[in-house]
Amino acid sequence: MTTDLSLPKPEEVGAFYDATNDLMTQFLGGSTHYGYWTGPDDDSTFEQAADRLTDILTDKLGAGPGDRVLDVGCGQGRPGVRLATRTGAELTGISISARDVEVSNARAEREGCADRVRFQRADAMELPFADNSFDHVFALESIVCVPDRVQVLKQMARVVRPGGSIVLTDFTDRDVEANAQKKEGLAEVGESWHTAPLVTESDYPSFASAAGLEVVEVTDITQNTKYTEERFYGPLREYAANNDVPPEITQVLQIAPSPEELKAMSEGAPSVGVILVVLRNPAQD
Ligand code: SAH
Repeated sequence: MTTDLSLPKPEEVGAFYDATNDLMTQFLGGSTHYGYWTGPDDDSTFEQAADRLTDILTDKLGAGPGDRVLDVGCGQGRPGVRLATRTGAELTGISISARDVEVSNARAEREGCADRVRFQRADAMELPFADNSFDHVFALESIVCVPDRVQVLKQMARVVRPGGSIVLTDFTDRDVEANAQKKEGLAEVGESWHTAPLVTESDYPSFASAAGLEVVEVTDITQNTKYTEERFYGPLREYAANNDVPPEITQVLQIAPSPEELKAMSEGAPSVGVILVVLRNPAQD
């Protein structure tokens, strides 16, 4: 893992999502994460593909009715509300963005599950919950935004009960040599999105052991998520050409890949990818 890139600062990350997430969710099927397509012929909409990834992670979590689930980095609440509706679990979601929390709570009200789905503003680096207060932790594409992944995993390990699971996605460096060549470009992208340096698949066993967690699964899902950039940046760029967008989005778009590069990403093996990670808090004897 490289260390010479600037690390995201939670307050700035919150301000970024406050300013951008209303717009971004419109181009990401209501969530703020990658879509999951079955292959080049899968004509699922972004919304279907994004919900599919939520469901894949939810199924890995193994949550059932009445289980207490913590959703770390909840975005605008679509994944958390969907998880709670599909499983019958009680869900507490947190985001560092006040706007995310407002929109998420409004969604829970609207969908009639506010009695067991609540969202609050909090920093994943310092979770405001008692030890062992959740059965499971769900963190879809949020650990990429924190300055210290191991610190967040330690916090998750503290609040989840023994035997409970933690399911998350992260962004990976899948081609260390190719990415070393475009280090500055990747740093710029990371800064514009307020994300941390990429990890490699092989980092997770050591992250997990530093946090006292067991690795159940680390799976590279890039071949399913790689259609995302083309289907996100294309329409967003078209929208931004004809409408006012926040300056943060203008900056993101300025350094986004060209249409040709986006097409190559969908058709090839991108050097930056996505992993799905399942961890477990060891059961006590
Ligand atoms: N899980 C959501 C959102 C992913 S986007 C979804 O899949 O739709 C990243 C989310 O993490 C945003 O909601 C952002 O505000 C939140 N986040 C980033 N850093 C955080 C931190 N330090 N503490 C809490 N939330 C954070």
